[in-house]
Amino acid sequence: MSDDKPKRLNPVAGFGVTFKAMFKKRLTEQYPEYKKPTAPRFHGRHQLNRHPDGLEKCIGCELCAWACPADAIYVEGADNTEEERYSPGERYGRTYQINYLRCILCGLCVEACPTRALTMTNEYELADRSRESLIYTKDELLVGLTEGMVDSPHAIFPGMTEKDYYSGLVTEAAPGTEQQVAVSKGETAEEASA
Ligand code: SF4
Ligand code: SF4
Repeated sequence: MSDDKPKRLNPVAGFGVTFKAMFKKRLTEQYPEYKKPTAPRFHGRHQLNRHPDGLEKCIGCELCAWACPADAIYVEGADNTEEERYSPGERYGRTYQINYLRCILCGLCVEACPTRALTMTNEYELADRSRESLIYTKDELLVGLTEGMVDSPHAIFPGMTEKDYYSGLVTEAAPGTEQQVAVSKGETAEEASA
């Protein structure tokens, strides 16, 4: 006799959940028309950074690739020459790829990078229809130019050494260097130069 009451109430109890939800604030998000801002330190797609004169921070050391638990990074380093210099030191990253079909956005590669060449942005729209388009290349990962920068390759700032770059003594491109426009993923040349 005492067991009958809970059994009879079970179907009604189920509707109780629905009834309570009807009066709660709706959680529908109007994506993609409205893109909710992420937390400031959200781990999104990576970017390869530059020194303030536009030379690249990546030295092609492959430490990021070795640190990656998902084997998502491929790096090939090469020697700078005086005629074709991409970074202030001896080596630069000639080939750089991140496979976003493998990447779990853990950030271990960023921790491993000795030059702060690699950081993560807040961009989270990393879906596409082909495998190739989700393997981001150096052209797509290298950050665009900001005020005072000149696109690599170009000479080291006159009178400065590699160490001076890391001491913050180089703050802009050398006078007389030709201004160029670098375009990063999703940017047009006009947007990059704006
Ligand atoms: S965020 Fe993690 S998984 Fe993605 S490339 Fe870096 S180390 Fe690899
Ligand atoms: S991004 Fe950093 S860790 Fe990776 S190859 Fe370049 S300098 Fe080395």
